[in-house]
Amino acid sequence: MAVAASGVLRVVNPATLEVVGSVPVAEPAHVQELVAEAGYVQERWGETTPVERADVLRRLGEVVLDRADEIADTVVAETAKPRAEAYTSELFPAVDAATWLVGSAPRLLASERLRFGKLHLRHKRAWLEYEPVGVVGVIAPWNFPFAIPFTQAAFAVAAGNAVVLKPSELTPLTGALVGELFEAAGAPAGLVRVAQGDGAVGEALVKAHGLGKLLFTGSGETGRRVAAEAGARLVPVTLELGGKDPMLVLDDADLDRAVAGALWASFTNCGQVCSGVERILVERTLYEPFVEELVRRLPTVEVGPLISEEQRARVGDLVVDAVSRGARVLAGGEAPDRAGWFYEPTILAAVPADARIAREETFGPVVEVAAVAGEAEAVRRANAGPLALGASVWTSDAARAERVARRLRAGTVWHNDHAYSYGAAQASWGGVGESGFGRTHSKHGLYDLTTPKYVDRDSGRVPVPWWFPYDEGSADAFRAALEVLYRDGLRPRAAAAWRERRALLKLARRYRP
Ligand code: NDP
Repeated sequence: MAVAASGVLRVVNPATLEVVGSVPVAEPAHVQELVAEAGYVQERWGETTPVERADVLRRLGEVVLDRADEIADTVVAETAKPRAEAYTSELFPAVDAATWLVGSAPRLLASERLRFGKLHLRHKRAWLEYEPVGVVGVIAPWNFPFAIPFTQAAFAVAAGNAVVLKPSELTPLTGALVGELFEAAGAPAGLVRVAQGDGAVGEALVKAHGLGKLLFTGSGETGRRVAAEAGARLVPVTLELGGKDPMLVLDDADLDRAVAGALWASFTNCGQVCSGVERILVERTLYEPFVEELVRRLPTVEVGPLISEEQRARVGDLVVDAVSRGARVLAGGEAPDRAGWFYEPTILAAVPADARIAREETFGPVVEVAAVAGEAEAVRRANAGPLALGASVWTSDAARAERVARRLRAGTVWHNDHAYSYGAAQASWGGVGESGFGRTHSKHGLYDLTTPKYVDRDSGRVPVPWWFPYDEGSADAFRAALEVLYRDGLRPRAAAAWRERRALLKLARRYRP
């Protein structure tokens, strides 16, 4: 975490509360200049081919691997997450994205030849070209301070864009590294710029002229403000917002795997994960053994602190509120008596519907377990509420998993696992409902950072039948042509041609090539 002091952000480790570094902050007024400068760099970058850009991304992947320990050190210094998680949840997704883009972006972004089957268009030679959108503003949160902005910037750069990144004020050192790595990989100087500072700097970025697209990852509250401002400026925006992921444990689930998965998916990154499991819905027959095993194995969980005092206080308040309304604490439920913003991994049961934690994203090391009568109730409860980022189904029956997945309202549904696909660049990422819209990662995330342009070639020798002048038979002729070209099946087309032969002959005579 970091605190602002006279033009610099001083970074504080949330476990030791020691200052571990500082960065100068941008004046909000300076952000417009950064966007304009990024725009100049982008003009040249946008003229490179996807293959040339892939060369930079290949080196980028190598640079990240070469500096993996330095990146992990920086992430750990700012967030105090377990070092293993700096590799699994920050470096794996980043390197996977760079590598996937090297192999896939040139193919996906190549001009795409279109072919027309219909007679009136057959002579056209046409393509879809995927042009860069220009300067992409990336506003990033602190929970995955490397993986999120790095992958989003890599996708943007692969598509021919420049980036102005606003990292969270709580994790500016990692944010600064993201910009450095692109330059170290040979990207043009200033292609990925970093605007350090608090929400005011983020707001200045949203208001800057010359943005082609905004990628916002953060809370629903800020996301709404960002979307409203972007909407007023007609800047397209992708919103990656909060989640309250359910995990559905069906009665034929492998108990051992489901418990191990639940512990990781609820408590990794101290629960500060948009797609973290916050609700475990267990079929009644498995409920008792599941809960017993979950509580028994809770001490194997390794968590760092929450990012800040405010986040810890918020989590504590949600637990106190739930308990005051009748929830039972099966384990944890306290802030331990030690330095740093720690909170015990906590399991709640019997959480009433009117508790705040039943509706709000917790974003901390607290999970609720509940028994459900069967698949239908599990699906109904999983789908309740406005947040719909991810969900997982735990069952030994693949057909059952598929059936349940179809009925779940979520951007992603996993089977016997949770959230891993953030680290698989070809998998789409994003939510539905109040978890946001638009996608990052995958071919959809890449295309979302381009403007498809339709371009064609025409010899100019084929007459165009629908140009002026019209005559009294034109409408009949086009009506007839419509059926002949588009009726389903040869027989009805032939019948339409015969019925309207006079109008069609007239049209053919007039426009014969
Ligand atoms: P915030 O919404 O508080 O902040 C997100 C970013 O927006 C930060 O860089 C923040 O800067 C910046 N910001 C703050 N105010 C403004 C403003 N008025 N205009 C523009 N930008 C602004 O979210 P958190 O950082 O607390 O992140 C946690 C949230 O992110 C959770 O809800 C989590 O679920 C969600 N998230 C979603 C993910 C997804 O993929 N769907 C992934 C990860 C997290 P600063 O920090 O300096 O105030």
